[in-house]
Amino acid sequence: MWIVAAAPLMIKCVHCEDCGWVCEAHQDKPWEGPHACPCGAPGAPCPICNATNDGDAPRMPDGFKTEVDKDGWRH
Ligand SMILES: [Zn+2]
Ligand SMILES: [Zn+2]
Repeated sequence: MWIVAAAPLMIKCVHCEDCGWVCEAHQDKPWEGPHACPCGAPGAPCPICNATNDGDAPRMPDGFKTEVDKDGWRH
């Protein structure tokens, strides 16, 4: 479950607010959660806490439905 947003001390990553994803256009703003960037840009893995290595798919936000399992991220 999501930790209540009124507990900022519980947030470890200020970029994505621990959802693991940031706005692609504003990578210091979370893509999910109560402060998600409203600009409509696609999400990008948080470079701070969700950086990807070659071949590793980034973890997805809770409840995020994606098609990358089909043929997106290559293994
Ligand atoms: Zn944005
Ligand atoms: Zn992060």
